[in-house]
Order: sequence, then structure tokens, then C-alpha cells
Amino acid sequence: MSKVMIHPGTYESVRAAVDRAFALFPMELSGKRVLIKPNVLRASDANEGICTHPSVLRSVVEKVEILNPASIVVGDNPGLFNYGDNEESFEKSGLMEAAGRYYQNIGNEARKVDFNPDFMPTVSISRAVLDADVIISLPKFKTHGLTVITGAIKNSYGFLPGAQKAMLHKAAGSPKRFHEMVVDVFRLRVPDLFVVDAVVGMEGNGPASPDLRNVGLILASDNAVALDAVIATLMGCDPARLRFLQKAKQLGLGDYDLNAIEVVGELKPLANYKLPPLGGEAIINNPAIQEIIYSRTIVRPTADPELCTACGTCVDQCPVSALSMEDNLPRVDTDKCITCFCCQEMCPEKAIALS
Ligand code: SF4
Ligand code: SF4
Repeated sequence: MSKVMIHPGTYESVRAAVDRAFALFPMELSGKRVLIKPNVLRASDANEGICTHPSVLRSVVEKVEILNPASIVVGDNPGLFNYGDNEESFEKSGLMEAAGRYYQNIGNEARKVDFNPDFMPTVSISRAVLDADVIISLPKFKTHGLTVITGAIKNSYGFLPGAQKAMLHKAAGSPKRFHEMVVDVFRLRVPDLFVVDAVVGMEGNGPASPDLRNVGLILASDNAVALDAVIATLMGCDPARLRFLQKAKQLGLGDYDLNAIEVVGELKPLANYKLPPLGGEAIINNPAIQEIIYSRTIVRPTADPELCTACGTCVDQCPVSALSMEDNLPRVDTDKCITCFCCQEMCPEKAIALS
């Protein structure tokens, strides 16, 4: 039976929760090469809640240091294409300082591995991921327009450097296939431990929404499926409705059934947690409506003229060139758009909404 820890936490007291996580999920790190992977979506301030908070990273680094590993690497592959370079994202979020001398741009070296030919026959994965004896993943407790939640499984999408993330968005072509593809990326190298920053959570149109919520928790597990089931439940979403969890279970990666999970702590759904449009109760409980939405005919990104600065980032980042600037505002070509929401993810002004 998988185990998930739910522990109270603030950014000032993270270390106690991290110590508890390592006690519940003991790891032999002596002489091992350890990779610690925070969720670094893009260059943003720590208080925007878009990336794993530096206090969580710092506490995990300090904990790992005393367990005598051969080496520690802290790294991620932020963004799509080469937007907002790696160093800038780590610097701005405070994660560079928290990583200290262990920071590495893991996007600089990659190795090709076989992938699911339904999407791409091969993908390149950061060499640091393949070289690590132990991987500790530090997801952020957030919503996501495509996968409803972004937790343990989705955090591994950052194992892929550069433009591949966008190319896979394009190859997936629909939200349902995107859910499935994310699991294929995850299982290229399943991390050994997950410590989730759920001190401040994100609601609404994640993964870069301005709606933050004090959740006050640190979660941990050595099984991503069980952990994501707990995250979904805390957000008020039935994990059984999430296609990526269904697929992960089919592949034997774990179970999202709460009866099959030992929860250490109190699992109490957060009242009225705002899920993104694709995850609303009316949608997730109604397969017919879900199918209509998944058919990519309803939800499209639109830019708020009050917030948009016409920087053009969304136009540059769209993997299928579905956006163009008209009168200083991005316009979407609905025939081309594959509803990947990369533009929403990358907009530095949070100007893009799903409507
Ligand atoms: S990325 Fe955001 S701010 Fe920049 S053009 Fe697109 S919508 Fe406007
Ligand atoms: S317009 Fe936005 S949502 Fe549509 S394909 Fe381009 S990046 Fe993805």
C-alpha cells in the first residue's frame, strides 16, 4: 500500500516537515548521485507561487547534504523552446540562491531515448536525470488548464530540455492525449521521492494563475500516483476522473483509489477550491460534456487588453503558430490552435485566460 504524508507547514518551518518526510520514506543516499528537481515553470518571483518556493528547496538540499551523497545536482528545464533562460528562471525565483553551489543548467546536456511512437519515436532527456542514482522531485500544489492539477507526475515533464516540450504538446494534439503523453514522459525515469510545496497553492487557471491560496501543507510520498490522488482530493477533484491517473494506474505505476493509500495526516478537501474550466465538477462528472470540451471546439485562449503589453512572447511560443499580433493584441487562429495553453503558461503578464 502506498503512503502519502500530509504535514502542516509554513515557509519558515519547512524543515520539520522535510525531516518527517525523510523519516517516513527513508533513503540511503551515502555515495549516491542525487538530483533534486524543483518545479521551475519560468522566471517569476517566489511570491507569485508559480515555482516551488526556495524555502522548500533549501530545506531538502540541507537534508540531503547531511546524508553524505557522492554529489548533488539541483536543476530543471523551465519553459518551452528556450524562453527565459535557465539561469534567469532560477535567479528570479530565488531558487538559485537556495540551490547554492549545486545548481546546474541540466538543459545543456541531453541523451536520446526511445519514446512512445504514437507521439515521437525518440525524445532527448537531460543527462543529469539519466545519470542520477536518486531523484527527488519537488512539485508545486497547482491547478493546470490541461491536466486539471499539476503535481508529482506532471513535474517530470521538465526532464525534457528545450523545444521538445512544445513539440510534444503539438504531437499530442488534444488534452486527452496530452494527459497520456505526460505519463509516458514520467515513466522514462520515475523519481524516488516527492516533496510537494503546498504551503501556498494555486487555484483557477493554473499553472500561472494569479489566484493563490494559503493551504499550509507539505506533502510527500514515494509514489506519484497516490500523491497526485491526494492532491486532487484536497482540491475537491475526484482523482478517478483524471485521464493521466487512469493511464498511470493501467501501467502499474500506482493506484489513485484512496482505499489503497495510507494517508499519514489529515486528508480534508479544501472548501471551494477553484479548479480550471476543464476541471469543474459539471465537466468532470459528465463524460459527454467532457468529450465536447476535449474536442477542442470550445475553450480557447484570449488575451486581456488591460493586461497585455504586446510583448509577443505568446506568439513566439505557440508550437503551431496559431497566434499573431493584431492591433497590439494576440489573436488566435481557432483552426490551428491545439488548446495546449502554452501561451497562457508563458505570458509574463498573466494576460491570457481560457474562454
Ligand atoms: S505574452 Fe501576454 S503580454 Fe505578451 S503579447 Fe501575449 S498576451 Fe500579451
Ligand atoms: S494559441 Fe495558445 S493554446 Fe492555442 S496552440 Fe497556440 S500556444 Fe497552444
